[in-house]
Amino acid sequence: MDERQIQAVIERVNSELRHAERTPPSPRSPRHGGPSKPTPPAAAAVRHGDNLFADVDGAAGAAARAFRALHDLPLSVREHIIAHIRRKIRENAQPLAYEAWQETGMGRYEDKIEKVLLNANKAPGTEFLDTSAWSGDGGLTVVEFAPYGVIGSITPSTNPISTVVCNSLSMVAAGNAVVFNAHPGAKKCSNHAVQLINDAIVEAGGPANLVSAIAEPTIETAQQIMGHRQVNLLTVTGGIGVVRAAMKSGKRAICAGPGNPPVVVDETADLEQAGRDIVAGASFDNNIVCTDEKEVFAVASIADELKQVMARHGAVEIGAAELDQLRRVIFTKPPGAGKPGTMNTEFVGKNAGVLLQQIGVEAGDEIRLVLVEVDRDDPLVFSEQMMPVLPVVRVRDADEGIDLAKAAEHGFRHTAVMHSKHLDHLSRMAREMDCSIFVKNGASFDGLGYGGEGFCSFTIASPTGEGITNPVSFSRIRRCVLKDSFRIV
Ligand code: NAD
Repeated sequence: MDERQIQAVIERVNSELRHAERTPPSPRSPRHGGPSKPTPPAAAAVRHGDNLFADVDGAAGAAARAFRALHDLPLSVREHIIAHIRRKIRENAQPLAYEAWQETGMGRYEDKIEKVLLNANKAPGTEFLDTSAWSGDGGLTVVEFAPYGVIGSITPSTNPISTVVCNSLSMVAAGNAVVFNAHPGAKKCSNHAVQLINDAIVEAGGPANLVSAIAEPTIETAQQIMGHRQVNLLTVTGGIGVVRAAMKSGKRAICAGPGNPPVVVDETADLEQAGRDIVAGASFDNNIVCTDEKEVFAVASIADELKQVMARHGAVEIGAAELDQLRRVIFTKPPGAGKPGTMNTEFVGKNAGVLLQQIGVEAGDEIRLVLVEVDRDDPLVFSEQMMPVLPVVRVRDADEGIDLAKAAEHGFRHTAVMHSKHLDHLSRMAREMDCSIFVKNGASFDGLGYGGEGFCSFTIASPTGEGITNPVSFSRIRRCVLKDSFRIV
């Protein structure tokens, strides 16, 4: 290799590293309030056929063959595959986010790019699979993480790309194959991500169909996957219906179900930070992310100041008369007090400005969130709205806030947030809520490694206890024992 060629290699590696390090900017930055009608980015290459299957038998059979092929390859190829998937998704983050935004009609394009990049960069890979060992008088024992085989993954409409990306990375890192069944309302964009991931795997020297999908997914095909003999493990990400179906299937299931994350803000909180973080978190992708803040309990003495800070960071407060009007728009029928209502799907994931226009308030797309003060038993508090409408309830003190937060969360044990400097309050809320994610003095997305420490996954399995899933969640734990020998000291 001459000097010019060496220089070219160095430049290429440097450019790849720069690309890899492009962590999504903090959502607290002024990029918020971006365009609601973005210009389409250059489209990603559309590919047809290949790893999209007409039926579950075809997909599961091909996945089983791909799983065996991966099994015969060295671990270094698996690592190469993971790196290549990350790169491919990063390169296509904009077109994929745009496709998701167009197809589902939910969320914000600019936030969807962040979600895709976050998962491509921070969903964990093979580094999670540390072998452990014991050595002693009895010999040497090693414990390793082994794959299940073929995983059936049912994905939601709210994170149609991110879920495919984080699940593919964690599942393949653990040595599995996966068959995706996308939400029917997001099948084009989800399946496009699946095709790009298949391309990346093949380009990295892995087997085709290691990651595949049902071309025309339905609830029926999801149920066929749940009952298929060649599917060894289920992973479902969605509402209560799909969680119940998976749990009844008779197969081991990792279930990522709904949430209704409450926030408690007490009198010791840094209100500037709390107000800014709550707006950023609750408005992230127009509140369709399961971890987004969905109701606030603010101690009465600081509630007004908190609302003022939130208004400075992109929230618009509405009054009681406007709330009545808004209720008629966003619920399909008037819900009872203290109960969740059924949301009007036409408005799920829409911009705050669109919702405000429905009730005659002119507001642009720079408005991130509608803020409204409500009674403690208001249906808005109990509904997983997935709209940028945040109810705020005034409470006497932190303890009352925590008690109400627990009721509002319905025992999902998903995500909760508290802004406080009071150690006893923080400790009590952490224990009482008993959630997969508890964020102290940050936005909910800090709990997903988006600002806070730690890795990311958009499959947060609270009902079955895996929490924020990673390759270990998709692994069988196996032990190998050599009796009496191989101790080296
Ligand atoms: P959804 O429940 O309508 O659909 C999710 C998936 O399940 C889709 O692919 C759908 O086709 C399938 N499905 C639904 N009912 C089924 C059944 N009975 N049998 C088989 N398959 C079935 O959810 P959605 O509207 O796409 O997503 C939003 C919901 O998902 C919210 O409740 C949100 O909190 C939750 N969610 C949770 C997580 C998490 O990590 N815990 C992540 C994203 C979304």
